[in-house]
Amino acid sequence: MFLKDYPLSRVTALGVGGPADFFISPRNVEEIIQAQQFALEQKHPLTVIGYGTNLLVRDGGIRGVVIQLAAPFARAKVVGTMLTATTGCLLGSLSKLSLQHGLSGLEFAVGIPGGLGGAAFMNAGAYGGEIGPLIRQVEFVHGGKAGRWSAEEFSYSYRHSRLQEEKVIVTNLTLELEPREKNLILSKMLELQTERGRKQPLEYPSAGSTFKRPEGHYVGPMIEKAGLKGLRIGGAEVSTKHAGFLVKVGEAKAQDFLDLIQYIQTIILEKYQVALEPEIRIIGEG
Ligand SMILES: Cc1cc2nc3c(=O)[nH]c(=O)nc-3n(C[C@H](O)[C@H](O)[C@H](O)COP(=O)(O)OP(=O)(O)OC[C@H]3O[C@@H](n4cnc5c(N)ncnc54)[C@H](O)[C@@H]3O)c2cc1C
Repeated sequence: MFLKDYPLSRVTALGVGGPADFFISPRNVEEIIQAQQFALEQKHPLTVIGYGTNLLVRDGGIRGVVIQLAAPFARAKVVGTMLTATTGCLLGSLSKLSLQHGLSGLEFAVGIPGGLGGAAFMNAGAYGGEIGPLIRQVEFVHGGKAGRWSAEEFSYSYRHSRLQEEKVIVTNLTLELEPREKNLILSKMLELQTERGRKQPLEYPSAGSTFKRPEGHYVGPMIEKAGLKGLRIGGAEVSTKHAGFLVKVGEAKAQDFLDLIQYIQTIILEKYQVALEPEIRIIGEG
């Protein structure tokens, strides 16, 4: 059932990171609960990931059990204006599904490469849209038992949600969308996708925007003005297209990215007295 010593570089967008002691990609809630119980009984730490598009896994990997909720756990349905989906669904696929049903709200998500679980965890957003305000119900498992939160119980803010404080595995989300003409939804999606392709270094592996936006500043221009665009450590580079992204150019270790992040933070603090906080989640052992 579990894969042992599984290289997490295979399931992270950056393609770096050491192995998981035990790795599983469950197909349903029963298998998630079984994996959770195994971790509890064996006293192993448990980590849940999605498509790894917002992750930097350190080179020593992750001890214990890693549960990946991805393609084998992807099902979605639309009833009226409500979209219910398992957290292995890709955000982009849900955006396209809502277009097919003439429902608006997920246009912002069309080019975001990760899954629904990671999106809820991060309160993913772009171009003025966010997942948090759409959520009506959150279903999860915790300690081998199922639970749920209403919209009021699911608190969120910029790139933050209640999930970052609670060790629960989200299994299903229900989102409320709004009816809209399909051609208007489609043209918004195309506009946002073009904008993304123009600005972001999509031709290289990355984990999206590296740092959260500090109040009153834009990260990319700040890093660029500090002269750091194109700077390389090992196989990690400050993108020459958008300095807010770190990209993998050739062979790289997670440590290259960690060193580059720390160097950027030091320079930006010195030059602008701004403490940059990573948006990407840094997990695992060094
Ligand atoms: C090119 C590129 C562009 C991007 N653009 C954007 C953007 O515009 N806006 C934006 O917000 N993000 C963006 N991202 C980041 C990323 O795609 C999103 O945050 C995405 O929603 C993360 O989903 P994931 O499945 O990859 O999560 P992962 O990276 O696998 O995990 C992220 C976090 O969520 C937790 N998690 C995942 N699934 C669950 C679950 N079921 N239950 C509990 N916790 C869970 C993990 O523990 C981890 O801490 C971009 C990334 C890339 C590579």
